[in-house]
Amino acid sequence: MNRLNNKVAIVTGASKGIGAAIAKYFAAEGAKVVVNYASSKEDAEKVVKAITYNGGIAIAVQADVSVAADVAKLFEATKNAFGTLDILVNNAGIYQYAPIEEALEESFHRQFNTNVLGSLFAIQEALKLFGEKGGNIINISSGASNTPLPTGAVYSATKAALDAITISLSKEFSGRNIRINSILPGVVETEGSHSAGFIGSDFEAKLVATTPLGRTGQPDDIAKVAVFLASDEAAWITGEKISVSGGIYGI
Ligand code: NAP
Repeated sequence: MNRLNNKVAIVTGASKGIGAAIAKYFAAEGAKVVVNYASSKEDAEKVVKAITYNGGIAIAVQADVSVAADVAKLFEATKNAFGTLDILVNNAGIYQYAPIEEALEESFHRQFNTNVLGSLFAIQEALKLFGEKGGNIINISSGASNTPLPTGAVYSATKAALDAITISLSKEFSGRNIRINSILPGVVETEGSHSAGFIGSDFEAKLVATTPLGRTGQPDDIAKVAVFLASDEAAWITGEKISVSGGIYGI
């Protein structure tokens, strides 16, 4: 299918995991994709190679989303390569679970600066490239926003903030043809969830046991929903929080 033909998309944090899957699915649907990464140049280039091998169009652009000047550079590179922007996916994010007694300040700023401020910086820049025609923003939130878990106070707070941004901006964008929605994934098997120790843990086994659809998620599960939200099939959907979690975080 070519549901995103002639669209230009930026996917932040697309060198790995959920972001890489979204970039590949978008390209397979006809979008020209900017694969953003912070430090994993080789991984980002692999994603670009996989896309071009399958006949798609993509470039890799380094930018730390928590640094305003980097975000400006990311959008400048997008403009230079493709001239415009239709879709922004705010996927770049970090999760650090730790008891509240443990080191807080550095972890707070790292998570909020990446997950919240970084998304806001990107949205500000996206508006300039969307211009009069409007555009589409997808924020990758988390089931941890609706259903916070122990030791995840700060991470959950970042994602609840992101969802509040989704709802607030959906109203602020009234009449401008800009849709904005949140996807709330359950636990998904990615490089990040592996290195956080979730995959293969008792915690994962407990979650799977209480998940109606009986398994951990895969990046593709999230990418398919991102394609739907980015496409005209979702033309009348904005300001929504969509759980993609096998039913465990259903509202
Ligand atoms: P991941 O495997 O750890 O990959 C993270 C990606 O984000 C990488 O491409 C990384 O780039 C990039 N990134 C991190 N900090 C960045 C920054 N400051 N600027 C630009 N890029 C940055 O992550 P994931 O598990 O796929 O998670 C992706 C998103 O889904 C996150 O927002 C996460 O909170 C959310 N989520 C994940 C799960 C899950 O179970 N996996 C569940 C719910 C929600 P580099 O490799 O270059 O550092």
